[in-house]
Amino acid sequence: MMKKDHVEKAGKKNKMDCIFCKMAKGEIPTEKVYETDSVFAIKDINPQAPTHLLLIPKTHYKTLMEIEDKEVLGEVLASVKEIAKKLGFAESGFRTVINTGKGGGQIVFHLHVHILSGKEMSEEMA
Ligand code: 5GP
Ligand code: ZN
Repeated sequence: MMKKDHVEKAGKKNKMDCIFCKMAKGEIPTEKVYETDSVFAIKDINPQAPTHLLLIPKTHYKTLMEIEDKEVLGEVLASVKEIAKKLGFAESGFRTVINTGKGGGQIVFHLHVHILSGKEMSEEMA
């Protein structure tokens, strides 16, 4: 219940108050499991799999539809691969998910990629 409340609050923040921007700037201390100049990854607070990470660009883009910078887009996907190798689940496999907009199940409106691993994923997506 606490976690759900927290996540709902996180989703209501505007850009100035964005929780992922604050993490990017170090204003909220967070364990970063991966970091480059333009992206970082953290553990999801409400994990849906044994490993559930969020890969987050440091620049604030509300959704996937808002990002035009192909360099950052490329780095996001390249970083997913790096993390899979670094954290040792490249071989066993993993799932990446980007929720886009309310209908896509997005709660936090700062673009992020879910990386899920550590259990056999269902063939169904939704
Ligand atoms: P979305 O539905 O927007 O794609 O997913 C947002 C994700 O962010 C959720 O899985 C939620 O658990 C996670 N989340 C929300 N607030 C925090 C937080 O403060 N810390 C961490 N580590 N994850 C969060
Ligand atoms: Zn942000």
